[in-house]
Amino acid sequence: MQAEFPDFRPGNVLATAFTGTLSERQGTPVERIPTPHRLIDWLEANGLAVDSCSTAQLELARELRESVHVAATAAALGDTLPAAAVRVLNDCSAQGRAAAYLTPEGERQWRLGPASRVEDALSVIAADAISMIAGERDGRLALCASPTCQAVFVDTSQSRTRKWCDMNTCGNRQKKARFKASRSFQRESAD
Ligand SMILES: [Zn+2]
Repeated sequence: MQAEFPDFRPGNVLATAFTGTLSERQGTPVERIPTPHRLIDWLEANGLAVDSCSTAQLELARELRESVHVAATAAALGDTLPAAAVRVLNDCSAQGRAAAYLTPEGERQWRLGPASRVEDALSVIAADAISMIAGERDGRLALCASPTCQAVFVDTSQSRTRKWCDMNTCGNRQKKARFKASRSFQRESAD
């Protein structure tokens, strides 16, 4: 059944993995959490398992996602942070009751509230986005060089010159496009 839905894109940064659930924003957007159940799947895959999700909670999640995208893009460009987006991040951060929990193996897990509400999970994502936008994370906030993507990512490369949000998707696509362009140019020149 679920094979008909687009895959999730993996990521080390929770906030940008979340904004990546809508990809190709500047081209033909791909919605990777089209239904409440897909949001449940995504949250579980990212250590934030919840019991249920309503349509309204999915809408709230998407509102947070786009607010993270807008605020992080402004931060990457050095622009003023849009007040509406900041408000959504702060509201989502304040609404949740998630607690950090240290496992005996020394790993951090998130404990959501008794009902494992989506709002608790969103508060963890909002807090991660806030620390990313505030510059507390190691790395530079950058925008993907793919014209159809322009997603925000955290560049942790040593030279801080990474161009694409994901080498396996945007990076490869750009390389292929350049290769094709240079091939057709060579053909035209030969005529
Ligand atoms: Zn990209």
